[in-house]
Amino acid sequence: MEIITKNSQETQKLGQGIGFKLKPKKILALYGDLGAGKTTFLQGLAKGLGVKRRVISPTFVFLKEYPILDGSIFYHLDLYRIENSKDALGLGLKEIFDDPKAIVVIEWADKIEGLLPKKRTDIYFDYLSDQERKITIKEK
Ligand code: ADP
Ligand code: MG
Repeated sequence: MEIITKNSQETQKLGQGIGFKLKPKKILALYGDLGAGKTTFLQGLAKGLGVKRRVISPTFVFLKEYPILDGSIFYHLDLYRIENSKDALGLGLKEIFDDPKAIVVIEWADKIEGLLPKKRTDIYFDYLSDQERKITIKEK
């Protein structure tokens, strides 16, 4: 599926609609350059999931978790600052990926390509213009 959003609100709304329907256990791998809209999208997604706290991209923390009212957990991984998958080995990713309660969203997922579960959703963010982004969703 391919969607073009015309501003950041549209990208947030897209995330929100997807988040509203998501059930654990789910892994979303996000790809795209800095400023492509990954965090914007996942802020909407978190809202749709019912996460009450504001989701920001932590500067030095790679992994943050947010409880959801229904007992599931939203994990936000931002791997911008890691060099390669070796740097992610200490994060306990396997446990998180196997957790039946987890909804995991990974920014810069290409950095841990070899560690990603086969069953996941890939979402690509492409910059088209100042306000336009192309978002491509692929179920694997
Ligand atoms: P990333 O996490 O991929 O680095 P961010 O979501 O943090 O990207 O930043 C996207 C930036 O682009 C924000 O400043 C946002 O306001 C701006 N922007 C402009 N148009 C869009 C759009 N259509 N979708 C998402 N963000 C947009
Ligand atoms: Mg980001």
